[in-house]
Amino acid sequence: MPKKNALPVTRAEDFAKWYQLAISEGELAEESGVRGSMIMLPWGYGIWERMQRLLDDRIKASGHENCYFPLFIPLSYFAKEAEHVEGFAKEMAVVTHHRLKAGENGLDVDPEAKLEEPLVVRPTSEMIIGSAFARWLQSWRDLPIKINQWANIVRWEMRTRMFLRTSEFLWQEGHTAHATEEDAVDETLEILEMYRSFAEEDLAMPVIAGEKPENERFPGADATYSIEAMMQDGKALQAGTSHYLGQNFSKAQNIRYQDREGQFQFAYTTSWGVSTRMIGGVIMSHGDDDGLRVPPAIAPYQVVIIPMLRDQPEDEALLEYCREVAASLKGVSALGEPVRVHLDSRPGKAAVKRWAWVKKGAPILVEVGGRDADGGNVTVLNRTALYQDNGKIANDVMPRGAFADKVTPMLEAIQQQLFDEAAERTKANIRHDVTTMEELTAHFKQKGHIGWLEVSWSKPTGDALEKVEEMLKDRKLTLRNVPQNAPAAEGACIFTGEPAVERILVGKAY
Ligand code: AMP
Repeated sequence: MPKKNALPVTRAEDFAKWYQLAISEGELAEESGVRGSMIMLPWGYGIWERMQRLLDDRIKASGHENCYFPLFIPLSYFAKEAEHVEGFAKEMAVVTHHRLKAGENGLDVDPEAKLEEPLVVRPTSEMIIGSAFARWLQSWRDLPIKINQWANIVRWEMRTRMFLRTSEFLWQEGHTAHATEEDAVDETLEILEMYRSFAEEDLAMPVIAGEKPENERFPGADATYSIEAMMQDGKALQAGTSHYLGQNFSKAQNIRYQDREGQFQFAYTTSWGVSTRMIGGVIMSHGDDDGLRVPPAIAPYQVVIIPMLRDQPEDEALLEYCREVAASLKGVSALGEPVRVHLDSRPGKAAVKRWAWVKKGAPILVEVGGRDADGGNVTVLNRTALYQDNGKIANDVMPRGAFADKVTPMLEAIQQQLFDEAAERTKANIRHDVTTMEELTAHFKQKGHIGWLEVSWSKPTGDALEKVEEMLKDRKLTLRNVPQNAPAAEGACIFTGEPAVERILVGKAY
């Protein structure tokens, strides 16, 4: 009998549809009725909280402190940095009034309650945080300033997609100021490395860290670095960015200090962020045709115990046994933290609950029936190895004491396996041998999983770069980044024919 999967559409049939189903069936988020804004449900928000915890620890361990800045930014603040405002102007939500009144068609804004100065709902906080830096910074002794905030962001996106691109999203944004260019560049790269290790170690999501080409830079930045992850359909997801802002913002906002000689100097600044987009990356990196597979490090629950309740008086004894199983895991740690266990004691059929947790991607499911309890056993399912070769569900009956010993290595192996699978897939789908535009075009004309190309290019700028961008746009492709660990370039640039200076990734992207 062919295997029937928990989701009605497989990844191979329709990846975009599968993605939507993985989110709805996995109860991560739902539409809110407000365009581009979503409701994050407990399982989805729980994953975000785990990401937040792990990344926040890393941010603090590298010497940054958390702050909170206002959601509303006076419009005039943006006028200070021309490139920056131009980059964000198209997607700003602006508050212009502060009161409603009854009008012909019900409630309407009160024209008399117009704000003297419009307030922008933050699309990013360089302008408001920089203005505080300008006040805080007096002397070289005040540097570096290294702060971070966790906040919601509004960008009026035209084409939205759950988690990947929403009009309101959650993120962290780091902002720092330094005395020298070298310090600020070091910070930018240190953060890039922090994002790489967070993605790979905590999310089990392999990424390629590198510098974005000039045309993909953050508005106002001197350099933008990104981590790029390959999704299972071969498309790229820009999963996080770290910007070296040079003195552009400090000059625009007067972020100055007196150096040891008493001379005024402009500081060098950086900014960097990752968002709830990362959740989309986890879904599309690890999900399978049964739904999500959440890496144990970020799973809100790592072990879910499902009692086979029968709506009979003996249910109570079974529940008691399950509570004991849960208690036996107290004090057990995996991946450096106490194991997170959940007993799903809701009434209802165990099979329905099993599939709900499979679709949510909880790493380990423990099913307990009367026979298990009588024998002091548990039945264990591993979400990353759900089936036997014959297509039947693989379950492992074992004494509950043995299970308590097994949980740690099992969770750690699942974390590793998810990373290895995704890393292998990513590696297998980056081609390094394409040297002509004909080959490039032919490659991306193929159907199915086509991944990325790493090609040699001459790093054109300005108009020449625009031409390259246009060439690629016709093929629905973009330049991703120049990998930090790419080999040296050889021969001619695939786009311009000029001598190549570095290697760059090209692919379709979200
Ligand atoms: P940026 O400030 O533009 O460099 O954005 C920082 C990070 O936020 C990006 O690398 C993305 O991962 C993420 N991001 C940007 N725009 C959105 C959006 N509309 N929805 C979700 N995440 C976003």
